[in-house]
Amino acid sequence: MEPQRSPLLEVKGNIELKRALAKAPSRLPLPGSRLKRGPDQMEEDLEPEKKRTRGLGTKVATSRPRATALTTVPQTQGQTAVPKVPRKTGPRCSAAIATVLKNQKPGPAVPAQKPGTTAAPPAVGRKKPSKRPAWDLKGQLCDLNAELKCCRERTQMLDQENQQLRNQLREAQQQATALGTERRTLEEELARMRAQAEQGQQELGNLSARVLELEERLGTQEGLVQELQKEQLELQEERRGLAAQLEEQERRLQASEAALSGSQAELASLRQEAAAQADLLFKREERLHGLEMERRRLHNQLQELKGNVRVFCRVRPVLPGESTPPPGFLLFPSGPSGPSDPPTRLSLSRSDERRGTLSGAPAAPTRHDFSFDRVFPPGSGQDEVFEEISMLVQSALDGYPVCIFAYGQTGSGKTFTMEGGPGGDPQVEGLIPRALRHLFSVAQELSGQGWTYSFVASYVEIYNETVRDLLATGTRKGHGGECEIRRAGPGSEELTVTNARYVPVSCEREVEALLHLARQNRAVARTAQNERSSRSHSVFQLQISGEHAGRGLQCAAPLSLVDLAGSERLDPGLALGPGERERLRETQAINSSLSTLGLVIMALSNKESHVPYRNSKLTYLLQNSLGGSAKMLMFVNISPLEENVSESLNSLRFASKVNQCVIGTAQANRK
Ligand code: ADP
Ligand code: MG
Repeated sequence: MEPQRSPLLEVKGNIELKRALAKAPSRLPLPGSRLKRGPDQMEEDLEPEKKRTRGLGTKVATSRPRATALTTVPQTQGQTAVPKVPRKTGPRCSAAIATVLKNQKPGPAVPAQKPGTTAAPPAVGRKKPSKRPAWDLKGQLCDLNAELKCCRERTQMLDQENQQLRNQLREAQQQATALGTERRTLEEELARMRAQAEQGQQELGNLSARVLELEERLGTQEGLVQELQKEQLELQEERRGLAAQLEEQERRLQASEAALSGSQAELASLRQEAAAQADLLFKREERLHGLEMERRRLHNQLQELKGNVRVFCRVRPVLPGESTPPPGFLLFPSGPSGPSDPPTRLSLSRSDERRGTLSGAPAAPTRHDFSFDRVFPPGSGQDEVFEEISMLVQSALDGYPVCIFAYGQTGSGKTFTMEGGPGGDPQVEGLIPRALRHLFSVAQELSGQGWTYSFVASYVEIYNETVRDLLATGTRKGHGGECEIRRAGPGSEELTVTNARYVPVSCEREVEALLHLARQNRAVARTAQNERSSRSHSVFQLQISGEHAGRGLQCAAPLSLVDLAGSERLDPGLALGPGERERLRETQAINSSLSTLGLVIMALSNKESHVPYRNSKLTYLLQNSLGGSAKMLMFVNISPLEENVSESLNSLRFASKVNQCVIGTAQANRK
């Protein structure tokens, strides 16, 4: 038989379990709307069961928060029917128990019940069972058995209830687990929601910043719009102004168009006129060209009339420190038309000591008269001299070879005439720089008529029948190697000097530089051999080439300007020392070349078949400037001094012979 337990203890145990069960879910945070349910509401939910269970003196229902759990209670009520038990057995059982307890042993005191919570209704006011007499032990035993049976039934009921409550606990635990799971899910959801909220916040922040930025931009844009509107207003104003201007311009344009149509008509007539003018111009050009050719022809005729061989005599002035010649020593008789005529005659008086009169008185001086193409007295300037030869120089541009010599004894003024005086004074500039300047300027003028000219200069020295370049530069300066005169090519008429520089020149400055270089070269040579310059011939040659591309005309001719070596003779009475012997050799070379020059001119004048050009380097080099088509001019330079009278006479006689020569009609070198 199972041990009997006090039903009160069982109830208490049940109450303890219920409390523990009731506490557990109260700690769970109920999600959603359930969380909002306050304890009062829960109390209300519980109320019916409370009411039902109060009779048992338990608080089971009060601790059950969930409605679902509460709903289970009524279902079990039917089965348990707890409240009914005390009503059926209450007064009788309690009295029996009290009696048994009083008689048998003292049990644990039943805790004082709160009013209204007692398991059994108080006996007070109830109908007590009828007391059996002490002797009615059987009756008492019967009562006790009944009581015991009642207690057993009650125990059984309580066990059942306990079982139910356990089941409820299990359910509640399962619910708690489910709720825990739900809670976790909800927590996770909450965390997710929070994260989403955070993200949303962040996005909101970003959007706020973006909004601010956009607002700022909007502000800027608005400012810009305002500016643009202002600008638009200005532009509209400007446009109005421009429209007004345009109107004005259109008005003017119309006026201009009217004027233009007038002008076009005028232009058409002007074009016609221009065409007529061009035609006229062409005819004029043709005529001009014809006139130019005619000028050349006439110019040449004039030169021929003047003589293809002309001799000018120039007497230099008496230099400071020189003894003045006696009056009448040199006379320049006037021409047939009187003093206005340029002088062409010269008289030289020579008193011969050997010729004395019988009375012993000195013989009257012998007068020697000479006549030349032109005579320049000592006072004549360089410009005056050049003026006389400028026309001849111009012939070289027309294609006639021109050769100008300066002949005379040393110190008579040949170099002065050819190159000029010392110091670079333009007043005393010689024939070479003046001739070139003249050529450059005439070539420039002729370029307007379609002629293009080029000039190439060379400058050589012939000493003792050797040729030396006076334009040598660098290491060859002053010691230029020997040069040879050669034909430019097989069968060519043109002559060229090997090892010599041929320098193209186009302006005065270049010519000046060349003359300066030649002077330097001669100065270097002078230190090596005293006064060689006066003992050598200096030949400046300019190759002139002209072309008229439009008409296919070409012309070429050399212009040669020669400063001859001193023509003085050696005094045969002088003792022949080593220096004199050298001098004699030089003099013989000079005399030989000068007499060859005379002979060449004679041969040319006599139209001899053989012209001895080859007899000297000088004539060989100059042969193209001396031939039949050439024009030649010889300056005979005379010293004004009486002591030089003998040499002066020699020079004048030589020049007179030359002057008698007439070289056949010159032919221009035209192609
Ligand atoms: P050459 O060359 O014949 O030996 P130069 O030309 O050297 O003679 O002249 C000798 C000197 O006479 C030089 O000092 C020169 O300046 C001077 N002379 C020559 N001709 C004239 C002249 N027409 N007017 C002034 N001085 C002159
Ligand atoms: Mg000289």
